Amino acid sequence: MTTKQKRPIRHAVRARGNPVTESASTMTPPPEGIETKDAFQPLEPTPEFLAELAEQSAQLEDATPEEIIAWAAERYAPRLTMATAFGPEGCVILSMIASVAPETYVFNLDTGYQFQQTLDLRDRIAEKYGVEVDMLKPELSVPEYEALHNGPLYKTNPTQCCMDRKIKLLHQGTHEKHAWMSGIRRDQSADRAQAAIVGWDKKFELVKISPLANWKKQDVWKRILDEGVPYNPLHDQGYPSVGCWPCTRAVVEGETDDRAGRWSGTAKTECGLHTIQESDGSGI
Ligand code: SF4
Repeated sequence: MTTKQKRPIRHAVRARGNPVTESASTMTPPPEGIETKDAFQPLEPTPEFLAELAEQSAQLEDATPEEIIAWAAERYAPRLTMATAFGPEGCVILSMIASVAPETYVFNLDTGYQFQQTLDLRDRIAEKYGVEVDMLKPELSVPEYEALHNGPLYKTNPTQCCMDRKIKLLHQGTHEKHAWMSGIRRDQSADRAQAAIVGWDKKFELVKISPLANWKKQDVWKRILDEGVPYNPLHDQGYPSVGCWPCTRAVVEGETDDRAGRWSGTAKTECGLHTIQESDGSGI
């Protein structure tokens, strides 16, 4: 850790419905055999807790991504998770997780519309690092979903499609977790420029940790090339950002925004996972 991290963050958050101030004499004893220390207690964004997150985020500004991941694991495991779409940043974080926090539960939002190259990457990562990414699937298969909506919903209502086939899975993957990590970088888009290293994710009610927030695109690719981190071959074919195949195209000459090929031709720029929200003082 950097010298800026002088004081460990305190676990100040109060669990909903189970205030730590409640006296032992008034507490209902748990059923026999139930380990209360393992019972899930969601975090609550009290002003004190949000202030601590902001302080910790500031302290981690100069930390390396590995240090941030190690801190996250020490602070939140086993209730720490990560969602990955196997982008360059995600693959780099997976390589780091393998060395500093290998027990972390990692999942992918397997919408049914991912490129085969993306699906293959899961196995290449597992083979190289031993990190098995859990592929979470929507309740309905693609044929069932398209039959229900009289055709592909991504053509007529991509926001609902992302809700059904991504956001709901994110809730599933983060069930009974306290914190999730993502590969977002501040320089990826205006939406992401405010991302904190550690902040409160209001939408999912989780601590959100972004170990690469301060990295540039070239930092990510230097690590990939220096260390032979597996990556999606589509990146060599004009796709700097890869999502679902119906909503992703290669960028064309002159397009400088890496995400220009995502939901091209629509006003949509994010699937809703990383939309910046009212900050609550934590930056995200
Ligand atoms: Fe559906 Fe496109 Fe969103 Fe994938 S990116 S879930 S295909 S709208």
